[in-house]
Amino acid sequence: MEHPENDELYAGLTVNKGIEQPPSINPYLKKRARRKLYTAGEYVEGILKGDLSLLSQAVTLVESNLYEHRALAQEVIEKCLPHTCQSVRIGITGVPGAGKSTSIDAFGLHVLKNPDNKLAVLAIDPSSERSKGSILGDKTRMEKLSVHPDAFIRPSPSAGSLGGVARKTRETIVLCEAAGFNNIFVETVGVGQSETAVHSMVDFFLLIQLAGTGDELQGIKRGIMEMADGIVINKADGNNIERAKLAQAQFRNALHLFPLPPSGWSPKVLTYSGYYELGIAEVWDMIYEYLDFVRKNGYFEHKRQEQAKYWMYETIDEQLRNHFYNDSIIREMLDEKEHRILTNMQSSFTAAHDVLDYYFSHKGEK
Ligand code: GDP
Repeated sequence: MEHPENDELYAGLTVNKGIEQPPSINPYLKKRARRKLYTAGEYVEGILKGDLSLLSQAVTLVESNLYEHRALAQEVIEKCLPHTCQSVRIGITGVPGAGKSTSIDAFGLHVLKNPDNKLAVLAIDPSSERSKGSILGDKTRMEKLSVHPDAFIRPSPSAGSLGGVARKTRETIVLCEAAGFNNIFVETVGVGQSETAVHSMVDFFLLIQLAGTGDELQGIKRGIMEMADGIVINKADGNNIERAKLAQAQFRNALHLFPLPPSGWSPKVLTYSGYYELGIAEVWDMIYEYLDFVRKNGYFEHKRQEQAKYWMYETIDEQLRNHFYNDSIIREMLDEKEHRILTNMQSSFTAAHDVLDYYFSHKGEK
């Protein structure tokens, strides 16, 4: 079609015909058959046998936003629940560059020295998308674990609300445990809210810190330190050892100022080197000591029960929100109400009431 701006009306302006885009970058892409969906029973059977391909596909279903996938995923999760193994769930956090992937590689190999152990590494990174941004849990970041037959590494579900991304990871844990992965690492970047989400699904929360940046305790959010069951200072190697020891003393002092956590365990501070694999066994001995301690005093089970409740309410909150905000009439009403509020025609509160009144009086319709 001739470009409208070439009309006389726009005299003096000419627009050249553009170049037509090829229909697709990869002409064969469309031909690729869609991956077959198995029945819930087939997924469960595969997962219980430890079939990693079926486990991966089931995790993809958990991560999907399509209604049919979600319904199937829920069925698979329900059926897997009675079969989950006795597991240990460890949360690992630290700012980018703290050495999380290097350390997880080393920690993982240490855990897998025990032939009874299998390890799944999951991640929560709400900022990530498959194509851009950081992809925690990426296989290429954990060179040794990624080729280990007893390790299963899964990157973070792609970007979405933190609650949604975290719930998917929580559900993935169930599937991994049903497949016999009795050690679960959940990695997250130590910036923002995602630590709270990870904390709500693990038994032990490990904070990786660095030394040698001067004001060691600056910029570390108090909340994260309070959540940590153990703080480990990485890169204690070469001429960094002294600084790591100094940081260790500073962290220990700082921790004294916090009240004893509900677990009754005083968090420990250790130094290690993920890269040179120094002090790894000590870090893990600390974790096992903690687990022993909380199993004996009942906190382990108590925390798991609290977490189970938390995830029920989180899921309800998320579904209610989705149901509300995905309603097309509600969305139209909200647009109109926004306008009314901004032009001082209505207060925020009465506007909210109107929309909610409509929602509650029609909620049974869908
Ligand atoms: P992440 O962003 O937290 O996952 O950090 P990485 O594991 O990618 O590590 C960031 C950088 O620190 C890399 O260049 C690593 O080689 C380096 N690094 C990690 N662990 C150590 C360590 O124990 N000692 C030293 N010297 N460097 C390390």
